Amino acid sequence: MPAEAFTRELAARVGDANVQTLPVAAGDPPAWQVSPGAAAEVAEIVRLCDRDGVAVLPVGSGARPTRWRSAVGRQRVHVALRRMDHVVHLDETSLLVHVQAGLTGAGLEKVLAPRGLSIGDYPATMLGSTIGGMIAVRTPGKSSVRHGFLEDAVLGVSAVLADGRTIHTRVAPRRSTGPDLSRALCGSEGTLGVITSVVLRIHRRAESRLVAAFRLPTCDAALAAAHLSLREEVKPAGLRIYDAAEARAHLGAELQQTGVTLDDGAALLLVATAGPTDLAVCDRDIVASAVLAEGGEAVDTRLGEAWWKLRGGDPREVPPPSFQVTVTPSRQRAVYHAVGGAARAVGAVSRAHVSRFDADGAVLFFTLVTPGPGGRPLDGARLEEARAACEEAARGAGGWLLGSRSVQFDPYLAALRAALDPRGIMNPGALV
Ligand SMILES: Cc1cc2nc3c(=O)[nH]c(=O)nc-3n(C[C@H](O)[C@H](O)[C@H](O)COP(=O)(O)OP(=O)(O)OC[C@H]3O[C@@H](n4cnc5c(N)ncnc54)[C@H](O)[C@@H]3O)c2cc1C
Repeated sequence: MPAEAFTRELAARVGDANVQTLPVAAGDPPAWQVSPGAAAEVAEIVRLCDRDGVAVLPVGSGARPTRWRSAVGRQRVHVALRRMDHVVHLDETSLLVHVQAGLTGAGLEKVLAPRGLSIGDYPATMLGSTIGGMIAVRTPGKSSVRHGFLEDAVLGVSAVLADGRTIHTRVAPRRSTGPDLSRALCGSEGTLGVITSVVLRIHRRAESRLVAAFRLPTCDAALAAAHLSLREEVKPAGLRIYDAAEARAHLGAELQQTGVTLDDGAALLLVATAGPTDLAVCDRDIVASAVLAEGGEAVDTRLGEAWWKLRGGDPREVPPPSFQVTVTPSRQRAVYHAVGGAARAVGAVSRAHVSRFDADGAVLFFTLVTPGPGGRPLDGARLEEARAACEEAARGAGGWLLGSRSVQFDPYLAALRAALDPRGIMNPGALV
């Protein structure tokens, strides 16, 4: 269909003001961005695209550029969900909220906070994303020891499939039997459907939040203390380990101010516990005894307070990590040392912090720097060379690089995609 006619068809569904023709290179097929205001409009747009074989690319906050390049050679419609930002229903007794997919985590927190409620102890950086985007992409960043993985809080999803049908997965309480289709939609990155709304489990805001800081003789000891605590079923609101070099880079001013010194091999373990005060105290004390058992000691609490404040968005000039690795508890020490060794072998130094703990593991954030005091982050070809060697070492020691995913089930995913979307219109560049 000619572009002008298709533009008119889109506008008839969502209104002229909500259709934008996107700039494309000469000779490329046309592209549009549409901003539907309701699930029914999403369904109509998708139906239209299916009719003409036009690619459908859902857009949440748009923090990452949509991977439309894989749709090159075909017409595409970016379906921007930000106008769909309403709380449909809040059940304060059941602690459930039904939200449209375009509401951001921060927007939802704004509604929940005055009512003493919260989405949970998730990293503040995640809250700029839309609820639909958070559910569509499963990443280790969306987890908290206290509240689990965000996808576990998903009790139901409404989504528009490639043929324009709408499905609602929340048909009964979770205790009902049979497969849970919302699981297939979590992490599907827009390949199975456009998520239009989500029913989420929410939480009461914590009565108390306590922070504590500990020094341990080695990073191994800090990791052991963290896992000892988690095995005791401590549920911290946040837990972080810095090796000495990373602690100096991130909390240098506070180390100086508090007079806390760290030997080169040492580590800092910071913890925040939350909930009813007695529970928060109990969790903190269990962490403290695990630290003691590993040869560590409590240090100035102000270090913990500074970390907790920075966690809400770090205004300092700390460079982003060179790479991130997700590692199960049993492999963390091996990965930490393998990366250290690989960095040394290419004349660099790796420093690290460990965060995003849960029962299945944690994420190790490595920054590659020049050797010597005040090491500067590597850049350019030197960074590329060192990173390649270190990533290889991390993989070899059992780590999973950020963004990697298990591919064993790809044939099943491909079959599901083909069955639901025979024309291959749904986010064709994702999960391939
Ligand atoms: C492969 C990949 C890996 C990532 N890894 C991490 C990570 O490890 N840590 C981290 O913090 N962030 C990561 N991100 C960033 C991630 O984009 C955000 O964490 C968040 O999930 C995006 O929300 P958003 O609202 O910004 O969505 P966008 O950035 O706009 O979209 C992200 C993806 O989700 C799809 N999508 C968005 N909304 C919907 C919807 N309503 N229905 C269906 N599909 C939708 C988009 O088509 C796109 O593929 C990753 C992103 C991708 C694509």
